[in-house]
Amino acid sequence: MMDLLEALVIAKENFPKGPEAVAARIGVEVCSKPLTGCAGWCIQNNNIARISINSTMPSVRQRFTLAHELAHLLLGSKSEVQSDADFFGSNEGEEKAADRVAAEMLLPKKEVQRIATAPPVDAATIRKLANKANVSPVMVACRVAELAQPLGLINAAVVNFNGDKIAWIWSKTLTVPHEKARTLLRHAREATGGTFQEPSRSGETIVASVIDSPIQTCLFIQVLPVSIGNAKSRDQILVELGKWLFEGSASFRGQVNGCLSNFKATAKNEDINTALRLFNEKYIGRWTGANGDRVRDPRGQKFLRLRLEEWTRSVE
Ligand SMILES: [Zn+2]
Repeated sequence: MMDLLEALVIAKENFPKGPEAVAARIGVEVCSKPLTGCAGWCIQNNNIARISINSTMPSVRQRFTLAHELAHLLLGSKSEVQSDADFFGSNEGEEKAADRVAAEMLLPKKEVQRIATAPPVDAATIRKLANKANVSPVMVACRVAELAQPLGLINAAVVNFNGDKIAWIWSKTLTVPHEKARTLLRHAREATGGTFQEPSRSGETIVASVIDSPIQTCLFIQVLPVSIGNAKSRDQILVELGKWLFEGSASFRGQVNGCLSNFKATAKNEDINTALRLFNEKYIGRWTGANGDRVRDPRGQKFLRLRLEEWTRSVE
């Protein structure tokens, strides 16, 4: 079997198709088909490895399963069959280790650092990286929590809720009491932009953001040095600029959002400055009068820049 470090290097070089590249290099047979009751499994017989992935699950989940099963092979897990019903929720040593390796294959540290350049790491940055890496935002949040310190955070945790109950908490070292997590979720839901901020008892700043997902409720909690914590997050700035720009006009907001989503495919191939210029060339003439003035104002332009940034390619 391939060495773990070698596999991680291959994954890094082939981002965002790390696990696929590792599977091809190992020569493992990967088959995607409908399975009942599990996300996937891996079998090893006479040095031939086969991985089966449940094709009925969302594609980001299937990629995680592939990475997780590859991790078992690389880690030399003893058992021959792994059925993994849960996602990132296991507390068993071997499963947890496989989740960690999977996360590293899907999201190399360098790629996370390239996008999460300044703390706090907000929900938009998490979504941007999730799109780029073709993984779920929850998975990105877990990886960011694991890389907290290199990203300039004091600590971080991801709390996954099942209704009002806490399904699991992912963090290297941050302990989050369940009651505290529930309170933070409530505050974050009520806060502008889904992000809530408060000072901690030891004088640091706690930032809690709701990470949307159609299948689960997740809260990303970061602990920041006071100096950074006082700065507004990108999401908060975006909400404030949006309030100013649209002045409560749902139709103007709808028009701008419509143009932005039509422009998404173009933005993906451009750097932010080019994307903003092209967007202005194509759409800005549509708005006249007060709406036109606001969208051309530096604050309107800043709003567009922040929205487009989520899609544009990062500058190398
Ligand atoms: Zn497993």
